[in-house]
Amino acid sequence: MNSKKKIFITGLTGFLASHVCKILLEQGHEVKGSVRDLKSKKCDDLKKENVFGIAGARLEIIEADITNKKGWKEALEDCHYLIHMASPVPKGDAYFKDLSVIDTAIEGTRNVLEAAAGVVERVVLTSSSAAVIYPGGKKNDLFDFEAPPLNESDWTKTESSLGEIGAYSISKTKAERWAWDFAKSKNLQLTTINPTFVIGPLLSSKIRAQSLSMIYFASAGKINALPKQRILIPYVDVRDVALAHVTSLTHEQAPGNRYILHNEFYDLVDMLEELKEEFKPLSLKWPKRSVPHWKLKLASLFKQDAKMLLSLMGPSHEKYRPINGKKVNEHFNFSYRPLKDTMRDCIQSFKDIGLIK
Ligand code: NDP
Repeated sequence: MNSKKKIFITGLTGFLASHVCKILLEQGHEVKGSVRDLKSKKCDDLKKENVFGIAGARLEIIEADITNKKGWKEALEDCHYLIHMASPVPKGDAYFKDLSVIDTAIEGTRNVLEAAAGVVERVVLTSSSAAVIYPGGKKNDLFDFEAPPLNESDWTKTESSLGEIGAYSISKTKAERWAWDFAKSKNLQLTTINPTFVIGPLLSSKIRAQSLSMIYFASAGKINALPKQRILIPYVDVRDVALAHVTSLTHEQAPGNRYILHNEFYDLVDMLEELKEEFKPLSLKWPKRSVPHWKLKLASLFKQDAKMLLSLMGPSHEKYRPINGKKVNEHFNFSYRPLKDTMRDCIQSFKDIGLIK
């Protein structure tokens, strides 16, 4: 963006939002961000820790709940662009079972986008690869390695899929579908960003991202062992995702497009092994690959993290359906950061902000 603009971001307390905000402020723009509760500790800490340095002086934080219709038009009136990012990201069992997140995500998108239509020039919506990767509505869709690579024309099937793919995936798919229908009816310039697991450095100890929990637990020595079988997780660096949001605000090709943000699949144990030498001085106790499949299956009956691991392992053949994340490279002429940099910066940030000693 050449001239300085004002950008509105919903869900400023989020992991991804903090990186988007940082880029925009560093580019010299003004940012207005919404939080659910201005008096919350999360919001207080965001200001206190001075996450954005002196550029933070151009940041205005307001209170607004996406489930409330009121106040959004007034909040957006002085802004040129909107990035709608706030959406429930439930933890543990709720990720699969909390049906309320479906209505909250749709209602939130409706409240914010209805207020934005005719007010802002462009909207970027943070959707998810979860709205792409289950075209058959089955959890094993991602392990159908003989099928062609998934791309932006694929949509997760939501009908009768709840028991298979869970509430969160349905919430993201339905909210994105609603946004596209609405944009079409109002002639609104819309782009969606559909990232796989977002990992990378944390900007503040108070920002807790669900997608970082495995890396945090492993590097903090809170997991001793991982399954013997490799688990490949589709990932993308948070800074790449943030940059794609910012680029979408003004790039001429962006309106009307979905962009899958996906670099590659990574295996946590392999990656930690590669970084062993670099982090040796910290004497971190990283997990080993030693849990047999049957033990994990048993644990998954009682423990949510074991259940999540098992769902990522799929049918044990270690083969995954490829995901094509290249459209964003072609349109925006950008390259994904290498995995080793992402992982190193992520673990280093845990150390810098005092999460690991
Ligand atoms: P975070 O949990 O860190 O951020 C979610 C944000 O949404 C928080 O600011 C949260 O506010 C806000 N929020 C949730 N519910 C409401 C609500 N009812 N009203 C207002 N705000 C609400 O997650 P991420 O940064 O990881 O996620 C940001 C976006 O990216 C989400 O839309 C998520 O679905 C999407 N995404 C994330 C991926 C990942 O791997 N991290 C992958 C793909 C997509 P509060 O702090 O008050 O809870």
